[in-house]
Amino acid sequence: MSRISQTCMILLLCTTAGTNAQNPLKQAHAWGKQTPYTLFRDARSEYRIAIGKNASESEHWAANELQRWLKEISGAELAVQPVEQAYTGPQIIIGFNDLIREKTGKTDPADLDESFRYFSDGPDIMIFGGKQRGTMYGVMAFLENEFGCRWYTPAVSVIPRRKEYSFSSFDHSESPGIRVRNDFYFEAFDSIWAARNRMNGAMSSRKQPGGLESYWAVHTFYPLMPPSEFYHRHPEYYSLINNKRIHEEAQLCLTNPDVLRIVTERIKKRMRESPEYLIYDVSQNDWDNPCQCDKCQAIVKKEGSESGVIIWFVNQVAEAVEKEFPGKFIGTLAYKYSRKPCRNIHPRHNVVVRLCSIECCFSHDIRSCPRNKSFLEDLEGWSAIAKNLYIWDYVVFFQHYIMPYPNILVLQPNIKIFQENNAIGIMEQAAYESRGGEFAELRSYLISRLLWNPDCNVDEAINDFMYGYYGRAGKFVRQYFDLLYGRINPDSHIHIESHLYKQLAADDPLFAGDFVDRACRIFENAAKVADNDEILHRVEMASLPVLYLICKNTPAMAREDGTYKKFRQIVRREGITRYAEYGEEKNMEDFHKSVENAKL
Ligand SMILES: [Zn+2]
Ligand SMILES: [Zn+2]
Repeated sequence: MSRISQTCMILLLCTTAGTNAQNPLKQAHAWGKQTPYTLFRDARSEYRIAIGKNASESEHWAANELQRWLKEISGAELAVQPVEQAYTGPQIIIGFNDLIREKTGKTDPADLDESFRYFSDGPDIMIFGGKQRGTMYGVMAFLENEFGCRWYTPAVSVIPRRKEYSFSSFDHSESPGIRVRNDFYFEAFDSIWAARNRMNGAMSSRKQPGGLESYWAVHTFYPLMPPSEFYHRHPEYYSLINNKRIHEEAQLCLTNPDVLRIVTERIKKRMRESPEYLIYDVSQNDWDNPCQCDKCQAIVKKEGSESGVIIWFVNQVAEAVEKEFPGKFIGTLAYKYSRKPCRNIHPRHNVVVRLCSIECCFSHDIRSCPRNKSFLEDLEGWSAIAKNLYIWDYVVFFQHYIMPYPNILVLQPNIKIFQENNAIGIMEQAAYESRGGEFAELRSYLISRLLWNPDCNVDEAINDFMYGYYGRAGKFVRQYFDLLYGRINPDSHIHIESHLYKQLAADDPLFAGDFVDRACRIFENAAKVADNDEILHRVEMASLPVLYLICKNTPAMAREDGTYKKFRQIVRREGITRYAEYGEEKNMEDFHKSVENAKL
């Protein structure tokens, strides 16, 4: 994916997080005072960027980012120099050092502390936080809040140009709302985008400025104890189902002491070989069939849930690794058959319970929809007994990545509910295999705002994206957004997987009546005012879900009237390689054939 840095002259005044920001420009105007300090004017600056000799790699990275973006904003290139090097002019000091210690009277922040502060001290500007990511986040927030810089996607940054930046004083600080923030969109896997947007979570290791708080694997019962290795000699290691030990689509017999010993040995080996992760997974396979043997079921019965025997088992693994791996966690799932919390056993302090929301209704938030009542009960039940929850939340429809899926407005209330219920991490599983997910760019950006600050102003953040990313067409894309979200009423529930309720489909009443016609007209208007071809392409990407609906609902018409042709053109141009994670559209060709062969 090519990196295009877009610049424009528009100053975006929307700030993204609920913070104590004090915009020096606003202050200067509001008070009618002179602003005594000028960072740059007419592409010239007296300042340098100063960094301590003990600065971390990510602090050096942040200093270079600051230099790069300030040059793009102002035309002036500030030198990056060691803070110890003599300098008589004003400076921007990056990272905690003796000078900041003296000014603030504070002790050094912990390396892993992600909170940050930037403030002015006379003409000098100081930006600091924990060495690993705090300072780096402070630099990016300084650029965002004070200059309107945005890194909307890996390919699209908006960097407003300015002739002058003067200030009298400012002081701003922030800290993360959620400790581990995992935005699972394809767009969000770009490590530079993620670092700039304060995303620190991942399901696999990758090199990223400031590093990651990664979660090693999921559904690991069989990867840890493959049936091909053990079943023929030890069928008793696997689930007893209908009086037979089976391994196909089954689980482990967790009360077998050998199983505990082998899993513990193997997870220790994994932790030694891959020490870069924060959480190591010991969890059920992605199907049912938990063991029905008497010993396993005795614990299940006592605990009132299949999760009882899982937590009983995982607690012992966690206890066994604790001494050698302080600060690390063993994670497990509370998913489908194990979603209900156990009654008496509490997960240890170094266990993370990864609770999954897959059965929920996603058009209404967890508290407001009666269909989410049992999930809310489980969430609150877990948070009453577990210090550490890690929510596996779902933000797309896996069988139809491209279909309109109006869940964006429930993200904030749900993330806040998770935060209130001991979520140390949230993963928003999304369209992770390819570009092309419905509003993927908007959603991956918005998720990054929300996971950092669950109280952020969502409407402001959406508008910020709409006008920043779609330019003049943003007004119309927002109109389409409002049209779609205006369709939701108390009865319009949407499900992606539930044994109780129907899944969302293209012929859902949400998309009936004049919805598609109105949406098409809005996108025609958006296309007319698009600032340039590049923005027109972004608008066309936003319209793809509407074209998809037409192809699904009236395939022959879509083929005859050019809708399908346009859909294919956009897909090809944008390099979209997946329409679904599973189901009938997993193989894109099947979808194409269904339209191409449809009878009028
Ligand atoms: Zn068993
Ligand atoms: Zn609902």
